[in-house]
Amino acid sequence: KPIILLGSGAREHAMAAKLTRDGASVQVVPGNAGIPNSHPGLDPLDFAALEAYARHQGVRLIVVGPEAPLAAGVADYFAGSDIKVFGPTKAGALLESSKVWSKDFMRRHGVATAQAWPFRSDEVDAARAKAAELGGQVVVKYDGLAAGKGVYVCGSPAEATAALDDLQAHYTGWYSFLLEERLTGPEISIIGLTDGHEMKLLATSQDHKQLLAGDEGPNTGGMGAYCPVPFADDNVLADIRRDIVEPTLRGLQNEQFEFRGFLYFGIMLTPTGPKLLEYNVRLGDPEAEVLLPAMDSSLLALIEATLDGSLARQVVRQRPGAYVGVVLASGGYPASGFPTGFPITGLDNLPAGVEAFHGATRRGADGQLVTNGGRVLVLSAQGPTLAAATALAYEAAALVSFQDKYVRPDIAQRPAPVLTQ
Ligand code: ATP
Repeated sequence: KPIILLGSGAREHAMAAKLTRDGASVQVVPGNAGIPNSHPGLDPLDFAALEAYARHQGVRLIVVGPEAPLAAGVADYFAGSDIKVFGPTKAGALLESSKVWSKDFMRRHGVATAQAWPFRSDEVDAARAKAAELGGQVVVKYDGLAAGKGVYVCGSPAEATAALDDLQAHYTGWYSFLLEERLTGPEISIIGLTDGHEMKLLATSQDHKQLLAGDEGPNTGGMGAYCPVPFADDNVLADIRRDIVEPTLRGLQNEQFEFRGFLYFGIMLTPTGPKLLEYNVRLGDPEAEVLLPAMDSSLLALIEATLDGSLARQVVRQRPGAYVGVVLASGGYPASGFPTGFPITGLDNLPAGVEAFHGATRRGADGQLVTNGGRVLVLSAQGPTLAAATALAYEAAALVSFQDKYVRPDIAQRPAPVLTQ
């Protein structure tokens, strides 16, 4: 079954590997140096070219990895045609691409979430006053897609003021932003496949967004992830279903979204129950790099069932054990301007139980694999316990070398939280 997968990161490498295991013949647009069947010459945002290529190859299914093609309307472009897209339409993608819209959606449908106040760019003074009233315990969120860089978590009025100043310095023209009540508690990611009526959840996972050990330093796209999360027990999951997943599904139905794709819930387990921080309309990266190796069921079958309305009959089975993915990053990331192009060695003799997913890699002039950006590789390890999988992931990470390699040292090693609810 020929299918096209859109995207170019380690997430897409993991998706391509899983779909291939499930029996699909996957062409990746544009892909990268490490993903088989990549097409660097094709632009995933040029839908006409994509359609021509799909028709030429007899492709009837396009699976979307990242948010950009969804926000640009790839599902709308192919709507009503014989080529199916796994991923929401532009309207559905608003759940991720506009934080103000998404917060309103949560409110309209009673999804448990932080209180929030929307402002426009000419209302920064009012936002400053509101932040002061809340003692500076606020989160400032730029409305649009900002690749994880439009969110400021503040702990004092001075920090809130600095965040609002920074927002004004970074964004010009007309924009909106949210001021949100700052919540506390451990975070988990829950990702499901949905056709807008049913939701089939994958394992629980945890990302590590900050660059440095102990969740310090700047935010990144994610430095590592693991699954399943030991403290997300059946009680926690039941609360999440009742307070977050089910109200979301009712909302998708009431508003008659054509939503067929992955839906990601970024959740904080607060002292007053789980609260939704955000939706993403895609698999998380690096969560996908542990969730897909952990998946026993066929992703291809689940995707097909989502598109033909038979998702209710599907079951998602997980493989036993634990899965840990660590990101091998370029020194200097997530700031810009760090050097790349360094040769990568050691990928040939990784231990059993480890998969290497390529993010920012390319082939140098002599065909040698070299670094090509911030998050270069994700090494994903399986083990009987979380500790064993973690040890194996770091053993593998030590075997792969390139100049200025940086690996956050404490992935999957957060102390178990005390859940107060
Ligand atoms: P992502 O890269 O996950 O898409 P994003 O830029 O869309 O991130 P959010 O997920 O909304 O932004 O927020 C990023 C991080 O900020 C969260 O993972 C969480 O750690 C923190 N955060 C967001 N909202 C709150 C809140 N209300 N209280 C406390 N922390 C928060």
